[in-house]
Amino acid sequence: MTRKIAIVGVGKIARDQHVPSIAASDDWTLAATVSRSGTVDNIEAFTDIHQMLAARPDIPVVSLCMPPAPRFASAEACLLAGRHVMLEKPPGMTISEVQILAALAADRGLTLFATWHSRMAPGVDAAKAWLADKAILSVRITWHEDVRRWHPNQDWVFEPGGMGVFDPGINALSILTEILPFAVRAMSARLEVPSNRQAPIAARVVFSHDVVLDLDWQQTGAQVWNIEIETDAGKALLSRGGACFEVDGVEVANGEEREYPRLYDRMSRLLSADKSEVDLRPMIHVADAMTLGERVGVEAFHF
Ligand code: NAP
Repeated sequence: MTRKIAIVGVGKIARDQHVPSIAASDDWTLAATVSRSGTVDNIEAFTDIHQMLAARPDIPVVSLCMPPAPRFASAEACLLAGRHVMLEKPPGMTISEVQILAALAADRGLTLFATWHSRMAPGVDAAKAWLADKAILSVRITWHEDVRRWHPNQDWVFEPGGMGVFDPGINALSILTEILPFAVRAMSARLEVPSNRQAPIAARVVFSHDVVLDLDWQQTGAQVWNIEIETDAGKALLSRGGACFEVDGVEVANGEEREYPRLYDRMSRLLSADKSEVDLRPMIHVADAMTLGERVGVEAFHF
């Protein structure tokens, strides 16, 4: 039996990943969308979340795919209407927003899934398993991508709550917190903020345990999403955003990219088990970097 689901925020990631993943799944049926202008062919479309919740009590699950700033109000409305909720990453604009949602879901016996799609990349489980019994000496994270390519004309990424370069950087932190067998803490940060923007376009964060995160959002040409880990048993590398895992140059895992199908499989399992999954650690690291960060002004950025 398939579960009906509604998508809210029909934009880039909904079209690229959510709609195709739901369409390809035997577990899910896309039953409605909510978006001010976006629609999906042959699917009932609403422009207001409250109207959808009132008109479609038969839809038990809602997947929120809009940017983080407007997400809390929709998530709260869904939970108050007795619906289970999936949140795109980052799960909210602030940590307390997500804590409030988690408490509300628990109170109502509903599932809240704060997704981290990068954790579903094919090399991540292999990296976690391999690192579990190694001494980790240092970690170097290089996340250099082109904001114009991945967020074309999305001014929200540079607005308060948009996180700037931590929007992709939090993907690296979601992998880091998944694979490391110990907790790290941010100790210092340098944030490069364009003169016409509110959020950083590049950042370097130094964590305890010799872990360094290097983010740059102006990388043209080849995109780099690497985590290099030096251990007592060799040099490990998670590359291509977690897709490939190798040790001393020998490939250990390099599977098919199925991040979003795996997120929807996980949501199915959480619903069957009456459980929620809300891990705030990646967001806490970003908040700490923003709190600690030395801000350096750089030249204006225009899409
Ligand atoms: P987007 O295309 O800018 O936004 C998605 C849709 O949300 C928009 O088309 C818009 O639909 C709605 N929306 C935008 N601003 C809104 C507002 N202020 N109030 C209400 N609705 C609003 O963004 P996206 O790239 O899909 O990213 C959405 C989320 O997915 C972000 O949290 C991002 O971090 C995450 N994500 C993005 C990518 C990527 O490659 N872009 C990858 C993985 C995860 P309507 O105008 O029709 O309402």
